[in-house]
Amino acid sequence: MKKIGIILFTSDLRLHDNTTLHQAIKENDLVIPLFCWDLEHMNQGQLGFPRHGTIRKGFLHKVLQDLHGQLKQIGGYLLVKKGNPIDVITEIIGEFSTHKVYTKKQVGIEEKRQNDSIKKILLTKGVDFEEYSTSTVFHPSDMPFSISSIPEVFTKFRKIVEKEVEVRELIPTPTKINCPVLPKKWIESIEEENVISDGKSHSLPEMGGETSALHHLNWYLFEKKAILHYKETRNQLLGLEFSSKLSPWLALGCLSPKFIYHEVKRFENAFLANDSTYWLIFELIWRDFFRFSFKKHPIEYYQLHGILGRSERKENRDFEIIESWIEGKTENNFVNAAMLELKSTGWMSNRMRQIVASYFIYDLDQDWRVGAAYFESQLIDYDVSSNWGNWAYIAGVGNDPRAGRKFNTDKQEEQYDRDKRYQNTWNIN
Ligand SMILES: Cc1cc2nc3c(=O)[nH]c(=O)nc-3n(C[C@H](O)[C@H](O)[C@H](O)COP(=O)(O)OP(=O)(O)OC[C@H]3O[C@@H](n4cnc5c(N)ncnc54)[C@H](O)[C@@H]3O)c2cc1C
Repeated sequence: MKKIGIILFTSDLRLHDNTTLHQAIKENDLVIPLFCWDLEHMNQGQLGFPRHGTIRKGFLHKVLQDLHGQLKQIGGYLLVKKGNPIDVITEIIGEFSTHKVYTKKQVGIEEKRQNDSIKKILLTKGVDFEEYSTSTVFHPSDMPFSISSIPEVFTKFRKIVEKEVEVRELIPTPTKINCPVLPKKWIESIEEENVISDGKSHSLPEMGGETSALHHLNWYLFEKKAILHYKETRNQLLGLEFSSKLSPWLALGCLSPKFIYHEVKRFENAFLANDSTYWLIFELIWRDFFRFSFKKHPIEYYQLHGILGRSERKENRDFEIIESWIEGKTENNFVNAAMLELKSTGWMSNRMRQIVASYFIYDLDQDWRVGAAYFESQLIDYDVSSNWGNWAYIAGVGNDPRAGRKFNTDKQEEQYDRDKRYQNTWNIN
């Protein structure tokens, strides 16, 4: 009898450097690559917003199409089934005698709970379940601290990992996958959900899945060599090259952060290592830091007083004020421009994220979690730990030794948009 495994894809939508996929192929004769299009979860309201707004859904849809194409090239397919993973997997193992389900280890509390539930149900059916860490530069098993002793402050974390942890080698990209023939009734279409933004971005490259991610990384590093000025330009607001724009692909796992790390090292060996080439890795370590901090504080990041447990933050929620921020109709046109960019494209620069978050928390005096939930709904690069971690940081309830970051919007405007080019781009009226 042939050994069959299921790989449950979530936010690891790639072939390269993907341990989960590698293991599934290695240990089985046949593999079913699966993604569950769980509309109920995606549309579930959270502080007034669906988890996945239409732009996020549209981007995910494109990424899945690309993954299907990539798997097809090596002899397989991606099965996309509507429904929640527990129901879908139960149906599949009813049809195919499955040996094991492989999936990515999650960091968000709900996603973790979901994996636990799947595991429990599978155990009763005699099916193994294994999770793999695939989304950090540094592998969790190589960390020199236990979860409870993960440093609360970034600099301490960075210095330890840079000194003591070696980044692992890449996992080989599979060249062949054998998948079983599926029942016809399973071939579903998710076309009707595919509502893609028509907002023209002035900063994002062409967004697709792993194929365009790898292409863009190569363009950014080796063709444009834009990484050489990353540190000087990363706070700009407009244009394709001022920062890497890798975040949407990192969020859905179309790019492995470890792969980016090795590509930067390859660039440094071939051309030049400078402060800027280091700084891109420095920022990826920030990303790792938030992910590891989430392991330590899985619930606190969603709470008003964050990981500190006490703060001056209030639960204020004035829906007219919140609406004016979302719609780009506050008294501040600099903030408005960024909110219109977000609404129209699902993305905004790091500098503008800091400014609009600070404005929401300190000028409009609203509950920071509502702002974070809106970002979750809207951002195509939404990432649970980077989003909630950064919001908590600015609200002064996260990993910030300075206890909060209030930005002076006038000063920021003077520094980053003196000629109002950014505002004129987005404040259309
Ligand atoms: C309020 C707020 C919410 C945010 N929400 C998210 C989110 O949901 N998803 C997300 O990926 N980033 C988030 N960020 C971090 C940061 O704004 C984006 O990662 C960055 O703007 C993405 O653009 P880039 O890929 O061109 O970044 P680059 O400047 O080119 O950085 C390279 C990569 O480093 C990582 N990185 C950079 N800055 C940060 C940071 N401050 N925290 C964590 N990782 C970082 C990202 O993975 C990024 O792709 C948030 C920041 C703030 C202030």
